Amino acid sequence: MGKQVKTIGVLTSGGDAPGMNAAVRAVVRTGISKGLNVVGVRRGYNGLINGDLIDMSLRSVSDIIHRGGTMLYTARCDEFRYESGLQKATQTCIDHGIDGVVVIGGDGSFRGARDLSLRGIPCVGIPGTIDNDIACTDYTIGYDTAMNTAMEMIDKCRDTAQSHDRCLVVEVMGRRCGDIALNTGIACGATSIVVPEVPFDMQKDCLERIQKDLTRGKRHFIIIVAEGYGKVEEIAQQVGDFTGITARALVLGHVQRGGNPSVRDRVMASEMGHYAIEKLLCNGIGNRVIALKDSKIVDFDILEALEQKKEFNMELYRIAHEISI
Ligand code: ADP
Repeated sequence: MGKQVKTIGVLTSGGDAPGMNAAVRAVVRTGISKGLNVVGVRRGYNGLINGDLIDMSLRSVSDIIHRGGTMLYTARCDEFRYESGLQKATQTCIDHGIDGVVVIGGDGSFRGARDLSLRGIPCVGIPGTIDNDIACTDYTIGYDTAMNTAMEMIDKCRDTAQSHDRCLVVEVMGRRCGDIALNTGIACGATSIVVPEVPFDMQKDCLERIQKDLTRGKRHFIIIVAEGYGKVEEIAQQVGDFTGITARALVLGHVQRGGNPSVRDRVMASEMGHYAIEKLLCNGIGNRVIALKDSKIVDFDILEALEQKKEFNMELYRIAHEISI
């Protein structure tokens, strides 16, 4: 059992994701309702190093549940990876009586949370990234909104692809993870879905499929490519050369990180934020990360969580392949 927690900090770190605000709100409101003081730490670990802190009240998190981005700002902080940065951050916590920190971010941010926990400041991580690339959890906050945004954007472009008999090769986000590509690919009726997790045979899985479809009368095509695979220009060029149809490459980019969070992201963020406080209060030890496993909220030791290997949904990938003929 760790020491009694009275004051906690909350920060968002790494890339922003829709739903981070909902998580901050849940952390603040749960914390205060359980008698804790809650301090907002601004711009990720930079705020701990520089003492950039704000007192949070019930009202300070009003009107944010529906907003994308993060009211606490977020950043990457190289200094925190080194002994000097870690030392300054630990000292800030000691100086301000912060005896627990909730870290909302991705894998990198959890490594920082583990380091801080080892320094005697208990930390609990909440998975916040649009990429869904954290192995220990089936779901990360922001993922649902990002997929819906990508789907809407692709639907809009599809109108032009259809009107002009074109092939559209679209890159969606996800870093090394193909989950956004797989799901938006299915949702948009893509002819081919290209992800880093599965070997891709350009000739067989794409060019010959399009050629065959052309002989059946299909005139427009969507190919979805995960960020971790890239090469959309190259794919578009090959499609054009092989089939004779006009192919255009499009990188959707940061539009997928913004916007109002979906219902799922708001609810998941609220549940995880609430659970994180309960976790900090029940053991005061920290070094835990919150996760969704088989539709249940659970938690893992951060080190164990970071050692897990992310599994790709091959069954869904096979279904996508089969129904896209
Ligand atoms: P994400 O949390 O989305 O994976 P990053 O990988 O950029 O994003 O990590 C966010 C921040 O977490 C970094 O800027 C750094 O402050 C901290 N961090 C990342 N990796 C480590 C590490 N190995 N050790 C300590 N802190 C880290």
